[in-house]
Amino acid sequence: MDKDYYDVLGVKKSASQEEIKRAYRELALKYHPDRNKAPDAEEKFKEINEAYAVLSDPQKRTQYDAYGPDKFGQRYSQEDIFRGFNFEDIFKDMGININFGGFESGEIFGNLFGMQQAHPNGDIGQNILYRMDLPLEEAVLGAQKEISVRHIKKCQSCGGSGGDKGAKLVQCSVCRGSGYTAIVRNSMFGRVQTMSTCAHCGGKGKFYDKKCKICSGKGGVPAVETVEVKIPEGVEDGMRLRLQGMGDFGKDGSGDLYVEIHTLESDKFKREGDDIISDVRVPFYTAILGGTVQAQTMRGSKEIDISPGTEPGKHVIIKGAGSKRFRHGGYGDHIFVIKVEIPKSLSPEEKELISRYKDLSERHHDESRKKFGIF
Ligand SMILES: [Zn+2]
Ligand SMILES: [Zn+2]
Repeated sequence: MDKDYYDVLGVKKSASQEEIKRAYRELALKYHPDRNKAPDAEEKFKEINEAYAVLSDPQKRTQYDAYGPDKFGQRYSQEDIFRGFNFEDIFKDMGININFGGFESGEIFGNLFGMQQAHPNGDIGQNILYRMDLPLEEAVLGAQKEISVRHIKKCQSCGGSGGDKGAKLVQCSVCRGSGYTAIVRNSMFGRVQTMSTCAHCGGKGKFYDKKCKICSGKGGVPAVETVEVKIPEGVEDGMRLRLQGMGDFGKDGSGDLYVEIHTLESDKFKREGDDIISDVRVPFYTAILGGTVQAQTMRGSKEIDISPGTEPGKHVIIKGAGSKRFRHGGYGDHIFVIKVEIPKSLSPEEKELISRYKDLSERHHDESRKKFGIF
């Protein structure tokens, strides 16, 4: 048996639209996959949305009440259920402010409902994917970029309406302006009437008697445009930034532009999760005696302490000097890996000093051996 939508939202069958909306709002906030990491949260979230998509639409609700969960489930596909249901608009209307940061929400909706399913019949522009190669430093620190995007933009001549100058909107004679045509068929439940979008007017119910000559009535024309993209601090390789409405133009709404980040390797720095790793060169005498050296983090030079007797390969960690933790807040660390510099050429005086050190060290060694009777 299919789930009862009233049970899913926890409301009575007699609930008002206001009560349904309130129940949905509460549950959507509770189970949103961005907030709720329980393994079944995503499934639950989808269930809640399905229930609300039906019960918030008077026409669908009437049908649902008439047929009951089982038969309704057989008659309506997921696509039917989510038709005309724009999740993000609903969230906005309700004043639900979940911080998607402009990212991922598209992915979440995409996974749950399929990107284009919210308006399967409307003239919604296509989403566009743009792959951006980004130096590691810019991914960590954030950047302002300009990209050239080839997309369908709004036709300037008709303002996107698709009608020629002086064109009049006329009612569609096929659907008599309703935008829908009814198909009646016989099924095991008796005579079933399904509504489908009018093919003649594309569901608009009306159209212009003269089409715009520039866009042939489509409302949009191909163009290459410069788009500014703000890269937030700490973006990770493979992440997609969503620029709402910057995809292809559509009369019922433009698609979105997704900028997929591909991080380039850096000569100086490596990134491991939120930590940044780099080598730091230390003169051999500082490694032996201890001291300080200047070392480059991504945000500038830092003085780091080298303890006496530091071996090559040792790590010196600066807390919080790494990359921003994109999902959890805070910063990773900068890990310096010590490289000990051995001079390639020495002045006569330096050579003499080192030789003297060698003699001293060997004599000291011999004395110790004698003292402890080791030969
Ligand atoms: Zn036009
Ligand atoms: Zn029509």
